[in-house]
Amino acid sequence: MVRDLDIVLTPEEASDERLMALSCAKRLRVNLRDITAVQWLRRSIDSRRAPVRIAARLRVYVGQSAKPLSKPTCFRDADPSRPVIIVGAGPAGLFAALRALEIGMCPIVLERGCDVHQRRKDVARLNREGVLDEESNYAFGEGGAGAFSDGKLYTRSVKRGDVSKVLSLFVQHGAKEEILYDSHPHIGSDVLPKVIENIRGTILAHGGQVHFRTRVTGLVRSPDEVRGVVCADGREFLGPVVLATGHSARDVYAFLKRDGYAMSAKDVAVGVRLEHPQSLIDRMQYHSAEGRGRFLPPASYSFVTQVDGRGVYSFCMCPGGFVVPASSEQGSLVVNGMSPSNRGGRWADSGIVVQLRVSDIPYTDELSMLEYISSIERRCFIEGFKAPAQRMTDFLEDRLSTSLPRSSYVPGLVSRRMDDVLPDLIAGSLRRGLGDFVRKSHGLFLCEEALLIAPETRTSSPVRMERGPDFCQIRGFYPCGEGAGHAGGIVSAALDGIACIDALGASY
Ligand SMILES: Cc1cc2nc3c(=O)[nH]c(=O)nc-3n(C[C@H](O)[C@H](O)[C@H](O)COP(=O)(O)OP(=O)(O)OC[C@H]3O[C@@H](n4cnc5c(N)ncnc54)[C@H](O)[C@@H]3O)c2cc1C
Repeated sequence: MVRDLDIVLTPEEASDERLMALSCAKRLRVNLRDITAVQWLRRSIDSRRAPVRIAARLRVYVGQSAKPLSKPTCFRDADPSRPVIIVGAGPAGLFAALRALEIGMCPIVLERGCDVHQRRKDVARLNREGVLDEESNYAFGEGGAGAFSDGKLYTRSVKRGDVSKVLSLFVQHGAKEEILYDSHPHIGSDVLPKVIENIRGTILAHGGQVHFRTRVTGLVRSPDEVRGVVCADGREFLGPVVLATGHSARDVYAFLKRDGYAMSAKDVAVGVRLEHPQSLIDRMQYHSAEGRGRFLPPASYSFVTQVDGRGVYSFCMCPGGFVVPASSEQGSLVVNGMSPSNRGGRWADSGIVVQLRVSDIPYTDELSMLEYISSIERRCFIEGFKAPAQRMTDFLEDRLSTSLPRSSYVPGLVSRRMDDVLPDLIAGSLRRGLGDFVRKSHGLFLCEEALLIAPETRTSSPVRMERGPDFCQIRGFYPCGEGAGHAGGIVSAALDGIACIDALGASY
């Protein structure tokens, strides 16, 4: 017998297979020893009120063995007569390459940065010595912007494609099976690099190509078709092009603008990373002075409010995480967050951002929003990639912090008023938004250690590359992923990569 059960468990029951099986046996009125396997189908934490519970959907096998949760995808050997040039080895590019192999095309992946192993050393150097490699950093290199991240895989883009396929492909390449059933799955920055290397292994094993330190500087064009790309070292690669270069590749927007490709400026969200002690977030979210106890994971939060019709919200929360310098250019600073798979760090951080519309900024052309956020990043830069920071208590009272608490941000912090480094519109909306979050949390969100670190500017692409319903702008040119303004986050970028290849495959 196989039965699916919706069941509510205590955190202790949910973390112990035997206790879980016991609950199932009681519900099904069967003997515990007859249960051969219990499989998670869905796991979510219900922390709306105390005591916190785990809402579970379980598949219970009685007298028979469990079937795997997902089937591995089969890849074909690449057909060299059907090349596709994929620019960028982020989630959009890598999942485009996997899909290309699945349908027998030959993916040729061109990546400006290094392989993920070397990249790890380059980001360590940036953190410890404040030295940035402009081609190998938190934004550029194998795995793209998501390689050193929390690896959150939650997406609202469920209508854009088969999310479970993306998750299964991650599992097939080394991610834990729990991402298939967690309501808010994540992989973690310690596991992601291995997964990315395994994806590269699949591409190479089936006859695809991956070229590192290969920066694309232009598209090869005939009047009505893109026929390939040209690289900084003069090499050309010919074939239809999936351009998945992410939103930090500002030189790519510049050459597309120069060559007359259709783009438009896009709304974004800008603000700060807010860091708290994780223990405070656990107490706040789990309604308990003891915090998360032995059986619950580090808690996360999500806040949203409106200030004069403008959204202010938390974004990309990293429980047990680190704030990192995610810059890709000298003389300019942007921060972001990442967590290891166990989210075991002592701090919690999250972007707290304010909606910024194209109509809010001085508009000259399609790159105006890009230039606007770049100017904030330049204003925030401090030698050695130190970051401007202010205690949340001081920010709400509008005074400079005379001291700063300890922080996860390795390059170091310098006390600054957020009002001096962020535009008035952003700082003002942020202050009122945070005030609302403090009220909603009955004051718990505010503490002396809570710290604002600026700036969080790269929440989404400031530019959208136009494309038609067939996913291409002109024949042979598929703007793809976050940099094209058609995705936001790891899973939606991966889905967009798959969708571009499907569209290309249909027209090949
Ligand atoms: C620190 C950090 C943490 C994050 N955490 C999460 C998270 O937990 N969950 C989540 O969903 N999202 C997260 N994100 C966002 C997520 O990483 C992006 O949404 C996603 O990576 C976008 O995928 P993409 O493939 O479209 O672009 P990218 O990942 O940006 O990849 C683009 C790739 O193209 C390469 N490239 C650029 N220009 C060129 C060129 N001219 N020639 C050749 N190659 C080029 C780049 O080097 C890069 O590897 C995080 C981002 C950062 C920076």
